[in-house]
Amino acid sequence: MFHSESLIFVPSLGDEVMTKLQGIPPPNGGKNRVIVIGAGMTGATCAHELAHAGFNVVVLDKGAVGNGSSTRSAACIRTQFGTRENVKAMRAAVGYFVDFPGIMGIPDIPSNRAIVQNGYLYPFWVTDLAAFQAAQELALRMHEWSHDTVEVLDKQQTISRFPHLNPERLLGSRFCGMDGFLNVSVILDETFRHCREEHQVVLRTGVEVTSFILKKHTVQGVETSQGRIEADLVVNCTNIWSPRLTQWLPRSNGGMPKVMPVKRYLYMLKVAGVNSDEFERWPMTVFPSGCYCRPDGGNLMIGWAHQAQVEQDFRDTDQDMIEEAFNPKTGGEHNYGQHAIFEASRHVPAIMEMGEPRVTCGYYGVTPDHQPFISYDEDYARLIHAIGFSGHGAMFSPVTGKFVAMLAQANETMRWAGIRGDVLGLKPFSLSRSFGAGEHMVI
Ligand SMILES: Cc1cc2nc3c(=O)[nH]c(=O)nc-3n(C[C@H](O)[C@H](O)[C@H](O)COP(=O)(O)OP(=O)(O)OC[C@H]3O[C@@H](n4cnc5c(N)ncnc54)[C@H](O)[C@@H]3O)c2cc1C
Repeated sequence: MFHSESLIFVPSLGDEVMTKLQGIPPPNGGKNRVIVIGAGMTGATCAHELAHAGFNVVVLDKGAVGNGSSTRSAACIRTQFGTRENVKAMRAAVGYFVDFPGIMGIPDIPSNRAIVQNGYLYPFWVTDLAAFQAAQELALRMHEWSHDTVEVLDKQQTISRFPHLNPERLLGSRFCGMDGFLNVSVILDETFRHCREEHQVVLRTGVEVTSFILKKHTVQGVETSQGRIEADLVVNCTNIWSPRLTQWLPRSNGGMPKVMPVKRYLYMLKVAGVNSDEFERWPMTVFPSGCYCRPDGGNLMIGWAHQAQVEQDFRDTDQDMIEEAFNPKTGGEHNYGQHAIFEASRHVPAIMEMGEPRVTCGYYGVTPDHQPFISYDEDYARLIHAIGFSGHGAMFSPVTGKFVAMLAQANETMRWAGIRGDVLGLKPFSLSRSFGAGEHMVI
């Protein structure tokens, strides 16, 4: 989960520009071959949008579908943000996931749904008065941006709707029922099935891209562990592996900014003494400390931010390697896992009655300002990067797919892209942007 406030959104351009942008046909009458490298959430949505726009798409992954961060994610999605732009963009992403069964042509039954809309709840205690006031002010701003689903609840309203919270010293909360969490396996499985059956997309797993086919500064395809594949456009969706791939593109200017792999942990535990129907309706609950919890297939998932080293030399198996200090069973007195569980249990007393926790982990692919790169390469033609989503690549993926397809259609760098009724500026995602003060609360 990533708390960013800096997507740039340009609604004033209006429908006319957007329709124009969306109406661009694919170059070469739709015969262009596109290679998407990486079959995670980003590769899946890019492949889908590109194929939908008329491109011939091949997806390559060195492992299986979901080999990277996508299947290790907390996969939360929220529309509560500090700027109008982010609110609109993430409302569009929620809309995509709500419509997902229809988009994929599958029955709208619970097991096919991409999103569980239990909401996002931010509770505050009497010690958090200033934070609660700020949360109320932000709710008012979100109302001004037509995001009326956001509610501010007083103590009694919070307790009656969310009895899992510790009522002692509770002050109130902010809540949005649109928000929730994603079903990543359904999204990946159905997107690739739909891509294959409806758009003849070819998905090749176990095929590693080892370098690029170059003609001067134009990418003409990729070299892989199973031979060379030529293409008119290559889309890099390799997240934390991206620096290893782009090292094959010599540059005179010091190279492109790096995506930095940073480890994040999640704790799963059974909570006893809570009615299971009630438990399954618990919202994503984010405490003032940044610690959060949500239900996940009968377990409670708990996460929190921590200081972490960049692990540029990671091996693929390190994605699941639990460092001792993060393992609640072995980590000793100052164990991070126990600390996170204790923090959540202070606010959700039922966690005291827990079973033995299980811990999972994965890498965030972090950029200096925690904003992704969704951009044409600045030194090599016919190469688009969609990488560096920090802690929000799952929720961002519908927006990413749309942006990439529009860049491919335009066949050049664009300043704007339309998504679900609005237009967003692409500059904040460019590789050459200056990295201002980013939002630092990465969980
Ligand atoms: C613990 C944790 C919690 C998170 N919580 C959230 C959250 O609440 N909400 C949210 O939106 N996001 C969250 N994220 C972030 C989110 O999971 C990622 O941003 C997102 O999954 C990235 O997807 P991706 O497809 O870009 O990358 P990945 O899923 O990492 O996929 C990259 C793929 O590229 C393939 N690949 C790499 N190199 C090559 C090569 N040379 N040749 C072929 N294939 C290659 C890999 O095998 C891999 O399958 C979380 C992440 C973690 C780890």
